[in-house]
Amino acid sequence: MSEPVLRVKNLKVYYYVEAGAVKAVDDVSFELDFGVKMGLVGESGSGKSTMALALMRMIKPPGKIVGGQMILGGTDLVKLNEEQMRQLRLSRLAMIPQGAMNSLNPVMRIDKQLIDGMLDHNVIMSNEERVKRVNELLEMVDLPPKVAKMYPHELSGGMQQRVTVAQSISMEPDLIIADEPTSALDVVIQRQVMETINRLQQRLGLSVILIGHDMGLMAQTVDRLAVMYAGRMMEIGETRAMFHRPLHPYTELLIKSLPVLENKGVFSGIPGITPSLLNPPAGCVFHTRCPKAWGLCEETTPQFVEAEPGRWVACHLITA
Ligand code: ATP
Ligand code: SF4
Repeated sequence: MSEPVLRVKNLKVYYYVEAGAVKAVDDVSFELDFGVKMGLVGESGSGKSTMALALMRMIKPPGKIVGGQMILGGTDLVKLNEEQMRQLRLSRLAMIPQGAMNSLNPVMRIDKQLIDGMLDHNVIMSNEERVKRVNELLEMVDLPPKVAKMYPHELSGGMQQRVTVAQSISMEPDLIIADEPTSALDVVIQRQVMETINRLQQRLGLSVILIGHDMGLMAQTVDRLAVMYAGRMMEIGETRAMFHRPLHPYTELLIKSLPVLENKGVFSGIPGITPSLLNPPAGCVFHTRCPKAWGLCEETTPQFVEAEPGRWVACHLITA
């Protein structure tokens, strides 16, 4: 079997606030194979964005990676210095941000924004090659060549998001992390941008981590699904199998809470509130809301184990 593109082991990312440490990502482990698209879902505050920022090594104080490994193609990202990490961003892993408007430079033409990242990585290109590459990138994200000479404010939200997609693939990285890439767009445009990302993923053989709330969209888009709750990984598996037969009670509730799969399936209706990550519950973090909890769940944290080939679960129902 080939090596996974990414192997995250026992990752811990905490935010040190006055009241203590917010355990936003706590002992999370998972692997991602080449060419696979994995969705990362969970209610608001479960640690998804923190996970994405940690992978990009873009956690800012008071946040800190306090333990674990993030091995991308043999390199532990946790151990790299800033300069080494800067070289890897874009060339080996890239992020499609949540809001394109905030990430694009409002006073720079699109062609320059597409080329700048490559020049920053010392890619040497003649003027002719630059024009050719910009046109190629625009074509890949279904934008017309005239966009090259435009400024961000001259583009619609969907077009701006396409530009950030083009930026992310400009150096053909192995891994793309997309943090709710279409959440600011209307539903029709969302689907179109998503289709473009899907097509590129297949064409370039990219591995993708897609972060989102929308289980309906995930069901149609990703190969594998990873479910986070209160900073911990609850379950990972093949998407269809997870929907068909969830093994973790939280995954089961998430799926049951969806009105109609095809509709915008934002989580709703799971009784109880998410716990404070400053002082998470002892034992299984989900025990305060779990309809299947029993004594052991309040005392002992379940191990994250491979319950079936390719299916990882943290629940005493599986291990006890
Ligand atoms: P959402 O779906 O709302 O984006 P999320 O699952 O991405 O949520 P995170 O944004 O990663 O969750 O947040 C995880 C936890 O870390 C939350 O409890 C949040 O309050 C906390 N957190 C995030 N950023 C900071 C920060 N800069 N300082 C302190 N706590 C933070
Ligand atoms: Fe529920 Fe216990 Fe499983 Fe946690 S370990 S999900 S509380 S049954």
